[in-house]
Amino acid sequence: MTNKNLFQDALQRLDLAAQHISVSAETIERLKHPLRSLEVSVPLRMDDGSLKIFKGYRVCYNDFRGPTKGGLRYHPQVCLDEVTTLALWMTFKCAVMDIPFGGAKGGIEVNPKELSRMELEKLSRSFIEQVADFIGPDKDIPAPDVYTNATIMGWMADEYSNITRQHSPAVITGKPLELGGSQGRDDATGRGAYHCLKELEAKRGWTPETIKVAIQGFGNAGQSIAKFLHQDGYKIVAVSDSKGAIYHADGFDVPSLIQNKNETRRLQAVYCDGSVCEMVDAKQLSNEELLTLDVDVLIPAALEGVIHQNNAKNIQAKVILEVANGPITIQADEILDKKDVLVVPDILANAGGVTVSYFEWVQNRTGFYWQETEVYEKLRSKMVHAFNEAFKRMEEYKSSMRVATYALALDRLATAIEARGTKEFFNSGSKH
Ligand code: NAD
Repeated sequence: MTNKNLFQDALQRLDLAAQHISVSAETIERLKHPLRSLEVSVPLRMDDGSLKIFKGYRVCYNDFRGPTKGGLRYHPQVCLDEVTTLALWMTFKCAVMDIPFGGAKGGIEVNPKELSRMELEKLSRSFIEQVADFIGPDKDIPAPDVYTNATIMGWMADEYSNITRQHSPAVITGKPLELGGSQGRDDATGRGAYHCLKELEAKRGWTPETIKVAIQGFGNAGQSIAKFLHQDGYKIVAVSDSKGAIYHADGFDVPSLIQNKNETRRLQAVYCDGSVCEMVDAKQLSNEELLTLDVDVLIPAALEGVIHQNNAKNIQAKVILEVANGPITIQADEILDKKDVLVVPDILANAGGVTVSYFEWVQNRTGFYWQETEVYEKLRSKMVHAFNEAFKRMEEYKSSMRVATYALALDRLATAIEARGTKEFFNSGSKH
């Protein structure tokens, strides 16, 4: 799928949601256009002395509910259409969670694995130099996304403070704790997704030990959801990274898997029976094969567009928890709906990250930092509330959970947009 299709898909989902609520045509029109799109050249002096120029982007999609918020991605396939779509999704995600932010996204077209640590730092600071006038604690607040992390956010916040000559930690979230980060931000996306699944577990009467889970993508988000589910007894039978997948029918020992992956950068299979753990000969699979395994829950946690019209019919999972942004195309949605697969959509399932980012921003601005337990409880409460609101609408509309969740967000966005005046208001004839 091209990224152009990605944006068209996103707009179609907006139209589908609009069928269930009363919303003005003006609001829909407003939401079909990004507010600001910025394309920058990011110069980088490489370690060997040569100069390379990378393309960078920042799109602020909509700020009617507050300053714009969204991650920065370092990936060779980053382009303006992808960033615009991700910024639209962020707008909806913040509205679903009822946090006072609009949506944004950004990125650099680069393969960070090819850069030295020093080059990565210079690139990150150089990007901030280019976008410094467009971001700010009350304007637009970046955060980590694919192949960016707390260290990179720390460099960026530091660079922004250097440029503005004032301490401005609230300009970026997902920072290291020592630089004004929040407790609980590193695994917030996985924790938020976990709370969604726990709500579903209660509704469906699941016993975790009998539930088989496959996870595509084993980075920040994939590892943390795996960790929480494993702790509760769920069987994580398959995981993958960009090189491929491993499968073991009895389930993996997730903590050792995470430790191995982070130490060796490879996925190596470990299985534990009680306190005895051993390396096992896991079956190697492709990423494509992982998606169609006979599991109960499938968790895409890598990139967008991986479940599409050609493979959706082969999906065997009855529940898909979208930890990645946009892993399912609109054509695949239709196929999965017909197969009665429940999809917990990205704008809800992975909203734990932006929610704790919001907590971080609040703490930076008040200068008062919360205990870990406080962050966890506030996140749990927000996730459970949003999940149940979306679930209730799904039952009411007899729609997919995605359509219901979009409608929930659209309702809130419409209220904020229409409070500024509508055609009906301006034509009503009254003086005030
Ligand atoms: P990450 O960079 O930490 O990890 C990405 C993982 O995906 C890595 O394991 C990588 O090997 C794997 N991967 C890359 N290309 C792949 C491919 N073609 N097939 C299979 N796996 C592949 O990124 P992350 O922060 O975990 O983000 C993953 C997804 O979650 C993205 O869609 C991101 O937008 C979304 N997300 C992340 C956060 C967050 O707080 N980190 C919040 C919301 C949404």
